[in-house]
Amino acid sequence: MLISGASVAGPALAYFLAAAGYDVTVVERARELRDNGYNIDFRGDAFAVLADLGIEDRIRGLDTRMRGTTVLDETGAKVGELPREVFSSDVEVPKRELTRLLHEITADRVRYVFGDSITSIEDGHVEFECMPAADYDLVIGADGVYSNVRRLVFGADGLVHLGLSGAGFSLPNHLGLEHRGLLWRDSGAMVYLCSANDPERLTVGMSFTTDSPELDRRPRAEQEAAVRAAFAGYGWEIPRLLDAMATADDFRFDSTCQVRVDSWSRGRVALVGDAGYCAAPTSGMGTSQALIGARTLARLLASCDDHAIAFAAYERELRPYVAENQEIGRAHAQSLTATPA
Ligand SMILES: Cc1cc2nc3c(=O)[nH]c(=O)nc-3n(C[C@H](O)[C@H](O)[C@H](O)COP(=O)(O)OP(=O)(O)OC[C@H]3O[C@@H](n4cnc5c(N)ncnc54)[C@H](O)[C@@H]3O)c2cc1C
Repeated sequence: MLISGASVAGPALAYFLAAAGYDVTVVERARELRDNGYNIDFRGDAFAVLADLGIEDRIRGLDTRMRGTTVLDETGAKVGELPREVFSSDVEVPKRELTRLLHEITADRVRYVFGDSITSIEDGHVEFECMPAADYDLVIGADGVYSNVRRLVFGADGLVHLGLSGAGFSLPNHLGLEHRGLLWRDSGAMVYLCSANDPERLTVGMSFTTDSPELDRRPRAEQEAAVRAAFAGYGWEIPRLLDAMATADDFRFDSTCQVRVDSWSRGRVALVGDAGYCAAPTSGMGTSQALIGARTLARLLASCDDHAIAFAAYERELRPYVAENQEIGRAHAQSLTATPA
């Protein structure tokens, strides 16, 4: 069994399948475990999956202890307060910590190959950029919203852009925030600032409405230019944030996208997590969905000799949950792109 992607869905699936006796290899394009720089939270049945993985207590211990978010208008004046749950749910941790723990609990029973990527898949015969070609009984794409496996095997990219893109980076905590967030909003532009685990740093997201999702694949200079254009002329902290963006060494740019494909499997290949059914960051459900998807797929594969039956059951079982999450993601994106009341 080959899994592409070593973030959340991939290692979680690897854990459950290795426990069921599968021989699992995980190939990850990055040269080492990634630090995406943002926090992720958990909701609903995801806690049961964390418990099954044996990491629930450790995850709870890593909570960012966020206390809430102050809402500001475009002048920086306070207009409201949001409770912790809105951005941080019951438990929120830096994403790198979840990835690190998932790797730790699987490293002795799963073969990880970093710095490589699949170049072709033909009925279980897989070619790679670096490793020699090999044959696998099953190949699972857990390689995120821009999934390589989805592109290679499913043809259509299935991406639906929700009209929102943005830059993320960090800077010194000159505002002195302590486990708190600030949400600044104007029509078509939004900034979320917080200081969570590291009291010395502010984590910033600067989002704006756009119908150009292809910005994700453009050079950083173009992405920065789009952010500058969206936030031009504003006061408050915006000029300072734009200056900090220019020198940030952890700059990233993301578009708010969902993945909607007709089927999550083809032959011996299936998709799990964002690769198959990303609900968009605005849903707040992506990590929970990746964990629940991984456990569901592993359970069904382990309980059935015929992978085609397991794949069909996986999709039947999970589609309603994914549809709900995608609706949450779509509705929140719509509310964020609307003019504030
Ligand atoms: C800014 C932002 C904030 C978010 N906030 C939240 C939140 O608060 N709560 C929440 O639940 N979710 C949140 N999410 C979403 C969440 O991060 C994802 O839903 C979740 O990480 C999905 O996990 P995954 O394993 O399916 O995919 P990913 O975490 O995207 O992992 C995909 C992995 O595949 C690897 N990969 C990519 N291409 C290849 C290739 N060709 N070959 C091999 N490997 C490859 C990548 O390097 C990566 O390691 C947020 C996302 C973003 C962008």
